Amino acid sequence: MYDLLIIGAGPAGANLARLIGDDPNNLYKTVIVDKRALDQPSDYRRIKSCGGLLSPDAQHMLAELDLSLPSYIMDSPQFFKVRTLDFDNQIERDYRRLYYNIDREKFDRHLFSLISKRVEKIPNTIVKTIDPMDGYWEIELVQDNKSYKIQARCIVGADGANSFTRRKIISSSRKAKYFSIQKSYEATQKLPYFIGVFDSDITDYYSWMIQKKDSILLGTALPCTEKNPHLKFDLLKQKVNAYLGLNLEVEHAVEGAFIERTFHPNDLLFTHFTKTPNGEKLPLALIGEASGAASPTSAEGISYALKTSLYFYRALTQSSRHNYKHILAGYERRCHVIRNNIAFKTVKSPGMYHPKIRGLVMRTGFTAINKKLQASSPLHLSQTSCGFYKKRTFP
Ligand SMILES: Cc1cc2nc3c(=O)[nH]c(=O)nc-3n(C[C@H](O)[C@H](O)[C@H](O)COP(=O)(O)OP(=O)(O)OC[C@H]3O[C@@H](n4cnc5c(N)ncnc54)[C@H](O)[C@@H]3O)c2cc1C
Repeated sequence: MYDLLIIGAGPAGANLARLIGDDPNNLYKTVIVDKRALDQPSDYRRIKSCGGLLSPDAQHMLAELDLSLPSYIMDSPQFFKVRTLDFDNQIERDYRRLYYNIDREKFDRHLFSLISKRVEKIPNTIVKTIDPMDGYWEIELVQDNKSYKIQARCIVGADGANSFTRRKIISSSRKAKYFSIQKSYEATQKLPYFIGVFDSDITDYYSWMIQKKDSILLGTALPCTEKNPHLKFDLLKQKVNAYLGLNLEVEHAVEGAFIERTFHPNDLLFTHFTKTPNGEKLPLALIGEASGAASPTSAEGISYALKTSLYFYRALTQSSRHNYKHILAGYERRCHVIRNNIAFKTVKSPGMYHPKIRGLVMRTGFTAINKKLQASSPLHLSQTSCGFYKKRTFP
């Protein structure tokens, strides 16, 4: 019987397992399971679709955790600017932002490798079922088509957007409302910045472009209700090709993934107790995107994954052993900061996602790069006969 079962070894799960494994008191017998082969240099069957940008908040969390990154994780180029294209209002603006451009699969493997041997690691294995029993959880794992069962006192769901754990245990749990399509193309020219695209003909969220060595990632987050996602993606590609003078045609890879977008802090779920038939309460904690914690304005989630895992670890080590009621209460209390942060971002959201308000904000140049640099000189996007936008710079 394990004390803790962590489901998912993305940044949230792997960081929690690392912290528990390094704890000098090491009070919890812990196991971490992930369907990706994170112990291998790569896994072509399953990857985590991601833009691989470490935001200033994520960098802050890495600093707080005393985590450094080996240089092989860094991707190329590193850039210092966000170029924002607002096709609704025909405006573009540049903002100075310090992101780290990383190789997400290498980043996850690095975090996984930091987990001490004191935590049992089970990669390449899917959590198939989770059942509440009298006094413990029973979990069915499937590895190479063979299934077996393990037991744990407490489950930590760190299985990302549209969390299986959350949906399986809490039947009323909401499903993710957005999903992304991300394609990688041969780079025909350099993109020395992160590009964010706002266009309500494509999505009410946003789309992005990031250079990764000799490839360019083009991605968009679409509502799950979207009936023609591939048509929307093709329209996006046509528009950015026409506007930026690119030729994104030679496709290297296609990825799809759910994205959490929490519109109300009440949609966040960090802790839960499931009642068993004999009236016992089995504890469950959710960390990272499984809890809904991700920026509702940028979809940035790595900082939240690191933060929630640190908060859970603190709650674990600052409560008496196996007192899961206290542990979960301590974790919930710490997560108030995240609720407030997401509530604030939700209030800020119309400034980015309501086309008219965004137009006003962008015209004022609020927080944009100093206009004297002319980096954000106003551009006019005019529609060509084929319906695309083309760039015309005012003198
Ligand atoms: C296209 C896209 C681009 C993004 N770009 C960025 C970005 O540039 N910067 C940023 O900060 N955030 C970005 N995000 C968000 C970010 O990827 C997530 O918020 C972050 O990965 C959350 O970390 P996590 O550990 O909570 O979950 P995840 O990283 O999703 O990890 C969950 C883990 O659980 C495993 N798992 C799931 N189900 C099971 C199961 N049943 N059995 C076993 N294992 C399971 C998965 O294999 C995975 O390893 C992006 C998201 C998407 C979809």
